[in-house]
Amino acid sequence: MHKATLDYAKKQDELDELSNYRNLFHIPKDKHGNELIYMTGNSLGLQPKQTKAYINQELEDWANLGVEGHTEAKNPWLPYHEFLTESMANIVGAKPIEVITMNTLTANLHFMMVSFYKPTKSRYKIIIESDAFPSDKYAVESQLRHHGFDDKEDLILWKPRKNGALLHYDDLEAILKKHGNEVALIMIGGVNYYTGQYFDLKHITQLGHKHGCTVGFDCAHGAGNVALNLHDSGADFAVWCTYKYLNSGPGSLAGCFVHEKHAYRKDLNRFTGWWSHNKQTRFNMRQEFDLLPGAEGWQLSNPPILSMAAIKASLDIFNEVGIKKLTNKSKKLTGYFEFLLKQLGEDVIKIITPQNPKERGCQLSIQVLNANKALHNNLTKAGIISDWREPDVIRCAPTPLYNSFQDVYHIVDKLKDILNKKN
Ligand SMILES: *Cc1c(COP(=O)(O)O)cnc(C)c1O
Repeated sequence: MHKATLDYAKKQDELDELSNYRNLFHIPKDKHGNELIYMTGNSLGLQPKQTKAYINQELEDWANLGVEGHTEAKNPWLPYHEFLTESMANIVGAKPIEVITMNTLTANLHFMMVSFYKPTKSRYKIIIESDAFPSDKYAVESQLRHHGFDDKEDLILWKPRKNGALLHYDDLEAILKKHGNEVALIMIGGVNYYTGQYFDLKHITQLGHKHGCTVGFDCAHGAGNVALNLHDSGADFAVWCTYKYLNSGPGSLAGCFVHEKHAYRKDLNRFTGWWSHNKQTRFNMRQEFDLLPGAEGWQLSNPPILSMAAIKASLDIFNEVGIKKLTNKSKKLTGYFEFLLKQLGEDVIKIITPQNPKERGCQLSIQVLNANKALHNNLTKAGIISDWREPDVIRCAPTPLYNSFQDVYHIVDKLKDILNKKN
């Protein structure tokens, strides 16, 4: 059977041991009731059908118990975040003491920089990737200004080479050789949102630490997408959101990792609140501050339980599948997508995401010759939800939990139609 046929795609779906997980999700439909082909799990993951029941449980307990729900709810609210920790730790390759679900992503990035960006007179610069997600860039720029430094001069950009989109470790090493003793922090997107390049976190961390810098990652495009190994990477901290690949709903709470080596450090400067205080004595209220060890010690507030319920609904699915099976399927699915795209002709379609499956997750970032936003609009008209990034990139992320080989077949088929009509 030829690989570039719908029959082949159907066969792959039959062979796929995870294909039934699609049924656990609400798939958006067009106005005629036909399922759309959803390729934007990298932007907002789809809703698990069980999310409603998880949230309803908390609404009911709140209705029936009021404040008693803190201790008497089916899932008591006081320790609710603990119900997420182990699953979250498995997803990002960390130990439970290293992981906390709290706040939102950019807020967590700032809280981490309060502790891990500690500039001195001689060591104060920050390195980020030149194509960093805007929020990350704004966050580090504002940290530089906050400490009285210059947000242009003192921000070093790790840039792609001429005519390329990807970053090379040699170039980072060259920056560090030249400026390493002035750099306080390296903060990189673990999987770049634009190109889909998945960096070798351990390699970057080792380079940074060799030059005396702290190293942190924004893993918003990594969590639930690739088998992150945060503990082994040795990174000082990491942050991520839960509304992209982790399917926990728009604006849901974010994740945060602080390496075990920092778990018991009381010397690290940080912003604190009553939720960073010892759980046993938290409600004595008049106690001297007593810091919780581990990532929990960075919490400030009692968290929004309704959002955490949605996170729990999703993590329970991840827990059942396991990140290994997920990434195995992901490699096949994205590999098939890549294969089909190449059939359209490499003179027309250029994939800027790395070809090596180890250097990417499920997302492919596609440049189409002479394309503009009209192409993206035509895809949308054809029932394909993809993501357009100026100037000329379409990002498509076939996620292994709810996308199928047939989805991937159909998107390339539609793309072919659109391109043929144009010519
Ligand atoms: C999605 C994303 C964000 C968004 O930040 P919020 O604080 O959740 O609005 C920031 N950084 C990266 C790298 C992202 O992918």
